[in-house]
Amino acid sequence: MTHKASHHVLNTSRLRVFVSFTQVKRLVQKVHSPHPSLNTSLEGEIQAFLTDEDLLHTYDDLTKVNPVTPTTVLKCLQARYSVKVFYTHAGCTLVALNPFQPIPDLYSLDVMKEYHGAPQPQEFKPHIFIVAEEAYRNVQGQVQPVNQSLVVSGESGAGKTWTSRCLMKYYATVAASSSVVKSQDIVERIEKRVLDSNPIMEAFGNACTLRNNNSSRFGKYIQLQLDRCQLLVGASVQTYLLEKTRVACQPASERNFHIFYQMMKGATDEQRKEWKMPRGQRFVWLPNYEKTVDEDCFRETLEAMVHLGINVERQRQIFRILAGILQLGNVNFFSSTDESQPCNLDEQSKDFLQRASELLCVPAEELQACLRVRTLKAGKQSVFKPCSQAECSVRRDCLAKVIYGHLSCNKTVLPTKHSNGKPSYLFVYNKQLFEWLVTFINKSICADKSMWSNFIGVLDVYGFECFRVNNLEQLCINYANEKLQQHFVAHYLRAQQEEYVSEGLQWSFVKYQDNQSCLDLIEGSPVSVFSLLNEESRLNRASDAKTLRIRLEKELCDNANISWDKFSKEPHFTVAHYAGKVNYQIQGMVEKNKDPVPPELINLLQRSDNLLLHQIFTDKDADNPATKGLSKVTVVSKFKNSLESLMKILHTTTPHYTRCIKPNPDCKPLTFKKEEVIMQLEACGIVETIHISAAGFPIRIPFKSFLQRYGLIAKYSNFNSGSHCLDVEAPSSDVLRQEVEKLLSVVLQHKASDPSHKLDSEKHKSWVHCGRTKVFLTQWMLDLLEDQRKKI
Ligand code: ATP
Ligand code: MG
Repeated sequence: MTHKASHHVLNTSRLRVFVSFTQVKRLVQKVHSPHPSLNTSLEGEIQAFLTDEDLLHTYDDLTKVNPVTPTTVLKCLQARYSVKVFYTHAGCTLVALNPFQPIPDLYSLDVMKEYHGAPQPQEFKPHIFIVAEEAYRNVQGQVQPVNQSLVVSGESGAGKTWTSRCLMKYYATVAASSSVVKSQDIVERIEKRVLDSNPIMEAFGNACTLRNNNSSRFGKYIQLQLDRCQLLVGASVQTYLLEKTRVACQPASERNFHIFYQMMKGATDEQRKEWKMPRGQRFVWLPNYEKTVDEDCFRETLEAMVHLGINVERQRQIFRILAGILQLGNVNFFSSTDESQPCNLDEQSKDFLQRASELLCVPAEELQACLRVRTLKAGKQSVFKPCSQAECSVRRDCLAKVIYGHLSCNKTVLPTKHSNGKPSYLFVYNKQLFEWLVTFINKSICADKSMWSNFIGVLDVYGFECFRVNNLEQLCINYANEKLQQHFVAHYLRAQQEEYVSEGLQWSFVKYQDNQSCLDLIEGSPVSVFSLLNEESRLNRASDAKTLRIRLEKELCDNANISWDKFSKEPHFTVAHYAGKVNYQIQGMVEKNKDPVPPELINLLQRSDNLLLHQIFTDKDADNPATKGLSKVTVVSKFKNSLESLMKILHTTTPHYTRCIKPNPDCKPLTFKKEEVIMQLEACGIVETIHISAAGFPIRIPFKSFLQRYGLIAKYSNFNSGSHCLDVEAPSSDVLRQEVEKLLSVVLQHKASDPSHKLDSEKHKSWVHCGRTKVFLTQWMLDLLEDQRKKI
């Protein structure tokens, strides 16, 4: 087989799936395992597994474990982890266990070259570079180029971002082009620039949480753009749902976004003065300042900013804004004794408000007025109403969130069709989620459409979340995970089983969890959690958790995925997700969904003398919520739309799945906690995946290709057939099928005559099956065929 993988297009009734030959082949890893013991027959392997636990670590593919149960899979992974083997295939998925310590040489340049240069990288030990290389080779499809997606999933701290960075480094190395980009007088190689987008986005979008010191608080899909010679010429990034509440409210024992700590820890004396951040100054929005994490590296962020063309003046504007936000967090309000009067500020708060106004370049009195007084429009008249203490705090937090949220941005690439029928990709700026920083990064790294023809997309999204208290953010995150799980199920599990049916195979179905009803519950129409949430959000009344709770119960009672704990004091609902049950608190959900921004605040920011703030908030586009003041589009609608665009893109690409597993909750090096791992394996349906891959016939070869490759075996076995039918023009499937059946019986008889092997004729059926148009094989059968072919 050549490096360029051929693609079989499986047309099933519900979906069109591209499955590369290399993928199919790797469903149960190819023969030449680095461990000789694995080259024996399947039976031998089963025996080995059942009797010799010392060999467990040698199983490079979990489909070879027998029987496939959560326990055997777990044992195998544990055995591998204990000998520092972190990657294992699970049929079509790669399982990556987090070592929680740097592994020297595992990702070195030499290793990259080794995988890239190998004629059959699948034959090497499992590694993330196999997935990378496979996707890279698959881009050049047999019929037409096929874009690829690498979907990296797993819970918080499992290693998704690390893996995504590895993938990006791999392509930046093996597909390095000589192209250079020039902006702001800086000339840079494109691959360096693409990699430099990581530290910036992580500084602004990641934070230290209880689960991960470098937790991504946003989802990311990066498309690496390749030209016709498969060289990296650019990239574009799309981000999803930045957890901007963190700017003003950090969960206990967690931190704000890294960038604030980087500034506070890494500023020069001059910068400290400019940012009004003297050493030792405590900021309320900078909790757990003492905790040191690797990510507190301001210099690296600054250098990356320079490389991406963010000039010194722009950087100044950004940091002044961030420093202004921190000062705002120290402003407290006190209720006035006279309710008709605005809240009071103590002397300290007045100072902080003064500093914030200077840094944000807005007049202090106006800032104070905006935070303490609501302006109501009555015809042409304006009426001023003082805000309560709580309302003042909400307005202060809202100001911080709206500013921070708009420092990062969102961009969608939608598949479209050219008039010639070939797919092409069109950039659409999603103004409603317009956020500045990522737009800037995109401008800096995105190649002109004429320069690139294909892409490899890397998806790094937040994993399934279930906390003690779960709110709208968790609902959105878990909804995204349901969508991705459905995509996975559709592509691999359902497509495989549907193909068996369409090819007329006798096949006892492996049950897998179809999560459609859970998705219907969350996003379906006409009624769903999202639709009810949106209806409540559009009603012009104070949001009431109890009303929403009653509506949910009444209107969604038919869906078995939702339930209620009758004894709970707080209004809530429980969703049975594919990965487990999650309780969602209703209080505050409608308000979060509305995400209202008082127009006075926008108005104030529009008049800022900080050029960047002014620019962000005076975008003339009518769709820009920042300029419209009150956003009419709710959070869940925006999120659903952006996710649907992503799914559209994913459906047009060949997906490759990597499941990252967090072996222990404390992020301790080389520590494997069985209970932790088993929960994650079950949550992502790994066992079902292996079942289908192992129990089924993971290798499918159209009759004609099969005869072309193995026909000679029959010829040399004195079987007078060979592949005559191939000479006939367009032989029918039936003719081809008969030829294949004859050939198979020769191969199996030949094996039976081998005295070292006792053949049970009944077993044939579980090794090979002729469908209507294809031969379905187990790995064992393929090995046998390849063996005999080599002997010719
Ligand atoms: P989140 O959902 O919170 O963003 P994540 O899945 O992106 O989590 P990472 O930030 O990628 O998790 O990984 C957590 C930490 O685990 C990393 O900071 C790193 O220290 C360690 N780690 C992950 N993968 C590896 C690896 N392959 N080798 C060494 N260390 C790793
Ligand atoms: Mg991450």
